[in-house]
Amino acid sequence: MSLTAFLHSRHGRGFSCRAEIEAHHAAAFRRFRARVMPRSPFYRGMADLPLKALPRMDKARLMANFSAINTCGIDHDAAMQVAIRAETSRDFRPLIGKVSVGLSTGTSGQRGLFLATPRERRLWAAIMLGCYWPELWRRQRVAFFMRADNALYRSLSNPLVRFAFFDLLSPFEDHLARLADLDPSVLIAPARILAMLAERQAAGGLALSPRRVISVAETLSPEDAALIERAFGTRVHQVYQATEGVLAMTCRLGHLHLNERWLRIDRDVIDAASGAFCPVIHDFTRESLPILNYRLDDVLIPDPDPCPCGCASQRIARIEGREDDVLWWPSVTGPRMVASEAIRTAIACLPQPLRDYRVVQQGRMLHLWLDAAAPGAEPALRTSLAGLARRLGAEPPALVFHRGLPPETDAKRRRIRVLPEARTGV
Ligand SMILES: [Zn+2]
Repeated sequence: MSLTAFLHSRHGRGFSCRAEIEAHHAAAFRRFRARVMPRSPFYRGMADLPLKALPRMDKARLMANFSAINTCGIDHDAAMQVAIRAETSRDFRPLIGKVSVGLSTGTSGQRGLFLATPRERRLWAAIMLGCYWPELWRRQRVAFFMRADNALYRSLSNPLVRFAFFDLLSPFEDHLARLADLDPSVLIAPARILAMLAERQAAGGLALSPRRVISVAETLSPEDAALIERAFGTRVHQVYQATEGVLAMTCRLGHLHLNERWLRIDRDVIDAASGAFCPVIHDFTRESLPILNYRLDDVLIPDPDPCPCGCASQRIARIEGREDDVLWWPSVTGPRMVASEAIRTAIACLPQPLRDYRVVQQGRMLHLWLDAAAPGAEPALRTSLAGLARRLGAEPPALVFHRGLPPETDAKRRRIRVLPEARTGV
């Protein structure tokens, strides 16, 4: 399977039409029902149900039923102990049998466990290698910034790859000398780390020349993408990956496509106008911990245009962020979704560029921190945001302007976000 995955990812032209995708999913789930579901005590009696009739899952429900759902007979508490021991010792080698266990903290602060069998690790590696390897015949040096090392990621190592793990929990400055020594040909990191490295490179503090730059694990804003591409002189690829699976990745033309070869992704549409939806995923490659009818709280904006790369897998215009971070402005007919892209555009259209900014909605107030703003920035933004509200038929929030940047408590470096109304002291 992993060779097929590699070849598909490397040379496959992707699906040619929607009917081919549907047929592929139907066949994959027939196999999954016969082979995998009977091994899960939780799903054993449900193998004949349509996917939509399976219990709707989320992280909390998956964790509550973890011991019964997984097909490896692994107990939740035992797995949690292994995962926590690995996190605290920073020694990520221990396995349960042949299964690796990982801990995800997630943005909601809720702990999750994930499992990966050797077969799943090989599949993951095959997809990554197939998609993004610069030249297979040349030895590559890969720098991989992750919160936690995991046997999953080390399965990438082979004689052609020198693979270096950079622990995100170590201070950023400690990594720079080792990174310069490695001189990576492939640089894989969360978007905010890539942006920090790009700033360092632009300031002359680093001189890396990676052939591939891949942003993983969180959303990549257009500003950061531009910054990273300028600094490293190469396109930044994006692998949109949650604990629950690889949901989307960029094609050779740099456009995001849903990973419909390995998952079925249904839509819970939250805004009809833009088609914005939360993905509901069914993963037929995940045999250790089945992920079925599982709703994520990320918001995706579909791109209706076919991709010139020829692959019919659904294109994604962008990942809007978490559902909690979508801006809604009131209108007489109910709340209107305000795409973060519209706010970004308003800021990008200012007569003089900002150094950086943060936009935080709290109730009816929109706080704007404008770093190094020229005097005309505030009236210009008032005008353009009022225009945006008018176009949406919505009432604009009260704008509150600040200088500089707020003290950063949010390690995710999200420029546009929403605070729960109950919280005070922005
Ligand atoms: Zn494409």
